[in-house]
Amino acid sequence: MKVIVPGGAGFLGSHFVERLLQENHEVEIWDNFHSGRRQNIEPLLQKGATLQTIDIRYPLPEVQADAIVNMACPASPPHYQQDPIYTWETSVLGTRNLLNLAKKNNMIFMQASTSEVYGDPKEHPQKESYWGHVNPVGIRSCYDEGKRAAETLAMDYHRACGVDVRIFRIFNTYGPNMHPDDGRVVSNFCVQALRGKPLTIYGDGSQTRSFCYVTDLIEGIYLFLMSKSSVIQENRVINLGNPGEFTIKQLGETIFELLGKKEANWEHLPLPSDDPARRRPDISLAKKILNWEPRISLKEGLKPTLDYFRKEIFG
Ligand code: UDP
Repeated sequence: MKVIVPGGAGFLGSHFVERLLQENHEVEIWDNFHSGRRQNIEPLLQKGATLQTIDIRYPLPEVQADAIVNMACPASPPHYQQDPIYTWETSVLGTRNLLNLAKKNNMIFMQASTSEVYGDPKEHPQKESYWGHVNPVGIRSCYDEGKRAAETLAMDYHRACGVDVRIFRIFNTYGPNMHPDDGRVVSNFCVQALRGKPLTIYGDGSQTRSFCYVTDLIEGIYLFLMSKSSVIQENRVINLGNPGEFTIKQLGETIFELLGKKEANWEHLPLPSDDPARRRPDISLAKKILNWEPRISLKEGLKPTLDYFRKEIFG
């Protein structure tokens, strides 16, 4: 296949491109390096991927391909909140531009969506059928509502124009290639613990997340792309994540344990507004349609992640 990957220089995008190249697909990365990094793609360009520096909010080049897998958008709360208008435009205008191209050239269109579409969920765990509980005017809305609008657009292009649309909702994913200053909890805690600094806990640390190791997630996305439309049928939206649920405090304790530190060292900071209290994917649909489930436990995945951050910060 020839696949265009907007956001291919980002954390997840670069892993996905790597997976496509392993299977000998032709890959064109589109990125404007807003949050993506050149170092993530240097080895991929050597392996044959090509790069176009493109901001998907603006008119796009006429490129023929079999599929577009849209992974372009800052995803860490501090990053997407830094320029909220950019975040919303990338999600909504960018997705609209890509959908027009997919429609015109008859391509599969895959959209990286997020567990954030469920907001601060009142249903637990979250199934794809849950409509969510989202503040439309809060500090997270640029991302949450941007991604929700992108899903709406994609489904409307599917229903109205027959585009083969596939949406995957990503739950907290971690692993190598995350930026050390990414600002999300796994990268913050790994970097802080490796530097011997206290771990910054927002609120009391009792909020939960379900952490998926990056290679597990990428396999799910790959299987979804490779699925026949006749198998997917109308299951166009699928949760991808690891259902193992941990409090933020437990995540910190696991990192201390893996580093052999005897004393836990915390710094308590205020909980940001609209921070979801609980989050865990129901992955029965992915199991059924893709025959996929994550294999790597939190402890197993944190080891290579800590090794990666050690190299990033100490060389
Ligand atoms: N968090 C924390 N300390 C940090 C960064 C994040 O306690 O240094 C908390 C944050 O408030 C949230 C959870 O960890 O409850 C996950 O945050 P993250 O930014 O990783 O992603 P989210 O799932 O909120 O998008």
